[in-house]
Amino acid sequence: MRHITIIVPCYNEAEVLPRFYGEVRAAVEKIEGCAFSFLFIDDGSRDETLDVIRTLAQSDATVRYISFTRNFGKEAAMMAGLDYAEGDAVILMDADLQHPPALIPEMVAHWRAGFDDVCAKRIDRNDEPLLKRTMARLFYRSMRAVSRFGLQRDVGDFRLLDRRCVSALRLLRENQRFTKGLFTWVGFKKKELPFEVRPRAAGHTTWSYLSLLSLAVEGITSFTTAPLRLTTVLGLLVSALALGYMVIVLADALVYGDPVAGYPTLMTVLLFLGGVQLLSLGIIGEYLGRVFTESKRRPCYLIDERDGEKFDYAPRRREAE
Ligand code: UDP
Ligand code: MG
Repeated sequence: MRHITIIVPCYNEAEVLPRFYGEVRAAVEKIEGCAFSFLFIDDGSRDETLDVIRTLAQSDATVRYISFTRNFGKEAAMMAGLDYAEGDAVILMDADLQHPPALIPEMVAHWRAGFDDVCAKRIDRNDEPLLKRTMARLFYRSMRAVSRFGLQRDVGDFRLLDRRCVSALRLLRENQRFTKGLFTWVGFKKKELPFEVRPRAAGHTTWSYLSLLSLAVEGITSFTTAPLRLTTVLGLLVSALALGYMVIVLADALVYGDPVAGYPTLMTVLLFLGGVQLLSLGIIGEYLGRVFTESKRRPCYLIDERDGEKFDYAPRRREAE
């Protein structure tokens, strides 16, 4: 009998959780030779999510949970899930039923066939607005262009990971997590399964355009230093152009004289150089900020409660005291 843990990050999902649990339970019941358990991560929800999870845990002994002290974000929630999951494999899944439970049997079959990382690849983004789709495409393309490994396209967090992948991922303790990149980074034998994203069953998405943009910046700056190199190249290019232009201006002044001081050219060059310098400073600042945050070595999440017990980070006092 092999054991698989289903990790579910939840943020304000009270409305959909009972349905999610019911559908997934029904889907995995039919899989033979595998025992499934649930690990819910309550990411500081402000609704009744935690109560719903507690109720589920009371009726099903295979349901375990962790609740955070506040909202730490999905990346942190997934990391906690990977840290505390037991068994031979884990499945990462969203709580909103956008990830079809019907795909699980197929994932398990591929895992049994020897794949370590079976990930679901969305084949359409039709229900999403055009702007979001275009932004996603642009992001994947630039990421592929600048980083050394190709980021898997349209592959989300819905995946089955062998225990070996999980142990490898546990080694990566960075604070600013770009999980999608980390999955690629650890390697292992991967298999992509196509699936159609369903609309959210209930509740609201918590991703705004701004947070998606910051995720993209996160992805680029935590996986490649190419932008830094780009500024060097840009600097060299601009210097070369400026040098060439200087020769022309000097020659011009020597041959024809310079009756009016070159106000337009001066302004153009000044503004252009100013822009390039600010951009470069900004990019350097982005990386510096990353070093700053990472150097504090804070934990990625703090646990408030685990399976009904209040979590305490202080070392246990000895009984004798
Ligand atoms: N989520 C989380 N913490 C957050 C935001 C989201 O744990 O701060 C969970 C959420 O409950 C859901 C999953 O991450 O299970 C995906 O979130 P959502 O559906 O909002 O994102 P989308 O599907 O739009 O990418
Ligand atoms: Mg969703």
